[in-house]
Amino acid sequence: MREDRQDVREVDDPRRRIPRTDHLLALPAVARARAALGEHVVRGVVRAAQDRARSGAIAPEGVADEVLRALGDRPAASLRPVLNATGVLVHTNLGRAPLSEPARQALLEAAGYTDVEFDLDTGSRSRRGAGVRSALLEACPDAEDALVVNNGAAALSLATTALGPGEVIVSRGELIEIGAGFRLPDLITATGPSLREVGTTNRTHLADYAEAITPATACALRIHTSNYRISGFTSTVPIAELAPLCRRTGVPLVADLGSGLLAPEPLLPEEPDVSSALRDGADLVIISGDKLLGGPQAGILLGRAEVVARLARHPLARAVRADKLALAALEATLTGPVPPVLAALRRDPEELRERTARLAERLDARLVPHEGRVGGGGGAEVPLPGWAVALEPALAAPLRRGDPAVVTTVHEGECLLDLRCVPETEDERLAEAVRAARTAR
Ligand SMILES: *Cc1c(COP(=O)(O)O)cnc(C)c1O
Repeated sequence: MREDRQDVREVDDPRRRIPRTDHLLALPAVARARAALGEHVVRGVVRAAQDRARSGAIAPEGVADEVLRALGDRPAASLRPVLNATGVLVHTNLGRAPLSEPARQALLEAAGYTDVEFDLDTGSRSRRGAGVRSALLEACPDAEDALVVNNGAAALSLATTALGPGEVIVSRGELIEIGAGFRLPDLITATGPSLREVGTTNRTHLADYAEAITPATACALRIHTSNYRISGFTSTVPIAELAPLCRRTGVPLVADLGSGLLAPEPLLPEEPDVSSALRDGADLVIISGDKLLGGPQAGILLGRAEVVARLARHPLARAVRADKLALAALEATLTGPVPPVLAALRRDPEELRERTARLAERLDARLVPHEGRVGGGGGAEVPLPGWAVALEPALAAPLRRGDPAVVTTVHEGECLLDLRCVPETEDERLAEAVRAARTAR
């Protein structure tokens, strides 16, 4: 009698109705999900749904649906594509430069086994990154040699370390923080070199560098103040004036330009470029691959052959070497058409106005003037005159959370959609996203 009663109680316990793991794993949709997701991920999703039923958060009958929904929503990687409607070309939070079509293709092709360090003709080992090196030298004939590393920070660290041991001479006006709390002076000293600061925040003269040069000098470093500007009573020493002093004293002159322009850009007259810096006498120039160059994350070093060779031989070079995917995408960016960031920079203001006006009309919204920005990649303060669609501010959050995710700027009570960095082919999807965001509210 007592045993019978206990059975009845257990049958009544809703937890007994929770589907078993093997039953859930055998559902056709779950079996399909296992093609894209690992066994441990699928089992984790199953366990989480069962736990929710056990705790009473969902009904046991809802477990299968919960599993299917969770697997359906779950991409293999969590990074999601974003429509950048901020008007900021190089947005570090949004992954900086979007890659060109050829760069995306090259990246896919390099994803499997590839001849990154292998000569298919002779069957012997070859120099890593030979293709991208040729592409860089072709794009920048003033450089004798080139080396690609993980990013701009790695390039700076490698250069100041490999040219040592010793002191790195740098102006007090150029000791910059590049974002997220990272400071170039800390980066330089982290691997051993010491800093020899010269001049003041606003003014540094040639004599300051001359007085600082001693037998302990590793190199002289000019850092482009890419994310801020000092104006007023200022003076810096141009590379062309510093170079003769460095040459005379045998001190290598390194220029960290940051932004990644290989040649002068008429729209950004204040922005330094690699060719001019080398012609002015820099021995080594450093740029990032994913700013105005428009490629993947990379640090690019260009300059005199013996200086580049010294860097390539240093043990740190191996620790900061570039990935095959980055090498492939960078080469395709250099040999390909104008990359998306530069296309966005050079957009015709009238075309931009017409396009934005069309979208504003479709969305029953206002067209307003709006200035884009280059962003962290350089030309920090230079306004890029353009336009925006002004929407109700409450749309910013649903737009961000929608599919596609759209990132806008909220300014003075308006949610602004700037089309400068949105590919024209996406206008339709953007309009749809706004309609969806309006109904989602
Ligand atoms: C962006 C920047 C860096 C850092 O480059 P990353 O590619 O972000 O590592 C270094 N120096 C300057 C002047 C920069 O603008």
